[in-house]
Amino acid sequence: MKTLFIIADGLAGRPNDLDGKTCLQAAKTPEIDDLLASRGIGGLMDPIKPGVRPGSDTAHLSLFGYDPYQCYTGRGVFEAAGIGMDLSKDDVCFRTNFATIDNQGNIKDRRAGRISEGQDQLEEALSELKSEKYPEVNVRFKRSTEHRGALCLTGSDLGGNLTPTDPHELGIPIPNSEGEDKGSGKTAEILNEITKKARDILSDHPLNEKRKKEGKLPANAILSRGSAKYPEVEPVEEKYGVDASVVAAGALYIGVARVAGMEFKEAEGATGTVDSKIINKAKVGLEELEKGKGVVFLHFKGADNASHDHDAEAKVKFIEKIDETFGWLKENINWEETHLSFAGDHTTPIHYGDHVADPVPALVAGPSVRKDQLEVFDEYSCREGGMGRFSGNLLPITMSYSNQIPKFGA
Ligand code: ZN
Ligand code: ZN
Repeated sequence: MKTLFIIADGLAGRPNDLDGKTCLQAAKTPEIDDLLASRGIGGLMDPIKPGVRPGSDTAHLSLFGYDPYQCYTGRGVFEAAGIGMDLSKDDVCFRTNFATIDNQGNIKDRRAGRISEGQDQLEEALSELKSEKYPEVNVRFKRSTEHRGALCLTGSDLGGNLTPTDPHELGIPIPNSEGEDKGSGKTAEILNEITKKARDILSDHPLNEKRKKEGKLPANAILSRGSAKYPEVEPVEEKYGVDASVVAAGALYIGVARVAGMEFKEAEGATGTVDSKIINKAKVGLEELEKGKGVVFLHFKGADNASHDHDAEAKVKFIEKIDETFGWLKENINWEETHLSFAGDHTTPIHYGDHVADPVPALVAGPSVRKDQLEVFDEYSCREGGMGRFSGNLLPITMSYSNQIPKFGA
C-alpha cells in the first residue's frame, strides 16, 4: 500500500479570523468534508507538542516522525538543500541576501533593491570565493530568487553555532560573526573573511557598474544568517524502508523533505504562493505513486502566506482551491491501496499573522482506517474525531495504516 501525505501550511486559524469563524470554517470545502465523512478519521494534532509555537521547518520534521529537539540545527541547511545544493554531514550552511553597502561602508539596503536580474553573473563571480587561512575548506555560493541565496562551507571540524553577519538593521557596517565554540569560531573566521572578499569581488563587478548608471542599488555585499550544521536526520528510506518524493515550491519545504531523503519533483505552475497551480502538484504526486514511490508528500503554501498578510479572504479562496484539488484526487486515487492524510503544519491566525501553538485539524482516509462519525473538516469538529488529540508523527501514523512501518521491538 501507499501513502499520500498532504500539508497545507498555516491551514488552521482562530474564531476571530472572519466574522466569528476560522477561515477553514468559512471556506466551502465539500470535497474534503465528503472524503472525511465517507472514508476518513479525524483528530486534533499538536504539531510538535502542546504549548510549542512551531516554525515550519521544526513542524515538518515532527510531522515526518523526527524529534526536532534532537535533530534541528537551524534554517540555513534547509534553504540550501531547497535551492538544489547537494549537502552532506560536513556542511555548514547559511541563508544569504545580496545587499547594498554605501560609500561609508554601512548597510544601505538589505535586499539590494530586490535585485531581479543578473544574479547568475554574480554567482559566477563568487565561485572563486575561498579562505586563504583555511584553503582546505570548500566554499560554495548559490543564488535563489531575487536577492536570496545560500552559502555552504564544507570542512570536517566546522560548527554551526555562530552569530549572523546580517544585523537586520540599516546604517551600520556588516558585523563580524562570532562562534560559540571552537568549530563554530573557525567557521565564523572563514565567514568573516569570505564576506570581505565577496564585497571586493562584487564592488568591481560590471553588473554593479551598470546598475549604478541605471540608478539602481548595487548588489555589492552578501549578508548571512540562519547558520546550521547538517543535521542528523535518518533518511525516510532508512528509517521506514520506503522511497519518498516531495512535490512543493517553497525552498524551505523542499529542503526539509530533501534532508529527510525525499526526491524533489517539480510541478508546472507551482509557485509557493496563493496563485499556485496546486492541481498540478496533485497530478505529479499521483504519477510518482504510480511510478513506484511508497510515499509522496505534497506541500501547499498559500494559506500561510495569506495568514501572514492578515488576508482572510485570500486564505478562504486558497482553501477552496485546495478543496477543488481534493475533488480531483478523490476521483483519481486508487483507494484500494492508498492512504491519504491531510493537515496543517501549524495554526496561523489572521489577526496575529504568525504561527501559534493551537492544535490543527488532521484527517487520514483510506481502506484501513476505523472511520468515525465526522462529516465536517475544521478546527472544531475534529476535536470529536476518532484520532483524538495527538502530537506530530502524522506521516508514520498514515504509513502504519498502509503497513509501511517497521515494528519496534520483537
Ligand atoms: Zn508552516
Ligand atoms: Zn508561516
